[in-house]
Amino acid sequence: MLMTTEFKFNTVEESRIDKVNLKELPFGSVFSDHQFQMEFKGGEWQQGVFGPYGDMTLSPAAMGLHYGQAIFEGMKAFRQPDGSVALFRPMENIRRFNKSAERMSMALLDEGLFLNALIELIKLDEQWVPDGSESSLYIRPFMFASEAHVGVRPSDEYRFIIFTCPVGPYYKGNVRVKVETFFTRAAPGGTGYAKAAGNYAASLQPTAMARDEGYDQILWTDAVEHKYIEESGTMNVVFVLNGKLVSPSVGDTVLSGVTRDSVLRLAAYKGYEIEERKVAVAELKAGAESGALTEAFGVGTAATMTPIEAIGFPGVDVALPPVESWKLMPDLAKTLDDLRRGKGEDPFGWRVVI
Ligand SMILES: *Cc1c(COP(=O)(O)O)cnc(C)c1O
Repeated sequence: MLMTTEFKFNTVEESRIDKVNLKELPFGSVFSDHQFQMEFKGGEWQQGVFGPYGDMTLSPAAMGLHYGQAIFEGMKAFRQPDGSVALFRPMENIRRFNKSAERMSMALLDEGLFLNALIELIKLDEQWVPDGSESSLYIRPFMFASEAHVGVRPSDEYRFIIFTCPVGPYYKGNVRVKVETFFTRAAPGGTGYAKAAGNYAASLQPTAMARDEGYDQILWTDAVEHKYIEESGTMNVVFVLNGKLVSPSVGDTVLSGVTRDSVLRLAAYKGYEIEERKVAVAELKAGAESGALTEAFGVGTAATMTPIEAIGFPGVDVALPPVESWKLMPDLAKTLDDLRRGKGEDPFGWRVVI
């Protein structure tokens, strides 16, 4: 593992933090003072540099812009009751980043170095971690092909960057989702399990069309038959069916979310019954119509949990019971939030205090 002393620090002379109201934060458009940047070239990673967050120069022929070698991660750091800051399961994101890199034929990162860089960056911009009960520091590591070259092949050069955004609550409100039976997010053998930039671009048009039809988000189904539920927008989904927490299994077409895994493991720990399996659209529809489906929600780092108030099946929309009557989602949301904010038990050692 590379020691942090091997990083170069080119820190800002004056912080911008006095110009920011940390009590009122839009999501994802306020950026902390610093970023971490490291270049891959000549077959190896160069020295990592902490420098000011800011615009960068790039060749118009940078391969990532043309052929899509671009991946990202999303994670959060939370202020703890004693004033310290903790990351939540960072190694999960780091490992997933390398899985995405592998699928996109990009350079892999040393996991220890990645973690050190994250920790140093949070330390450097420690004062940017908001302490509001619904605020946190959103962390965006990403990498793209930077070699100037026209022609499809893996790039020989990459740029790896981590920047952070202090964020407030990400209220999407309750959402109406459309079961998508034409467009596909991910196919077997494809790239659905990777956080690859192109996956998100491809979801925009179907989502815009669903919006035009009065829905907020898509409930993706399998690419082969459109018969099984996969995930919702950029969140995994969890259903409460006959009192059990049921979530579609993850695999190469369903991204393995850290939030999903955390919610399910905490639920099992608390004694709830959980099932990770295929969830048929027909089963969900029957459950929604009979009342067996009592709760449905999206789970992901940005919003944590998003209640689904209605599901648009082909030909019929079915409303769920009013969100105010739900029991499991609020309980699990509080358990997870307390854990991340250092106010609750951490039975699995998920908090990494820095
Ligand atoms: C990021 C992401 C999720 C959620 O993953 P978390 O690790 O919980 O943030 C789910 N689905 C897709 C497609 C995603 O990109």
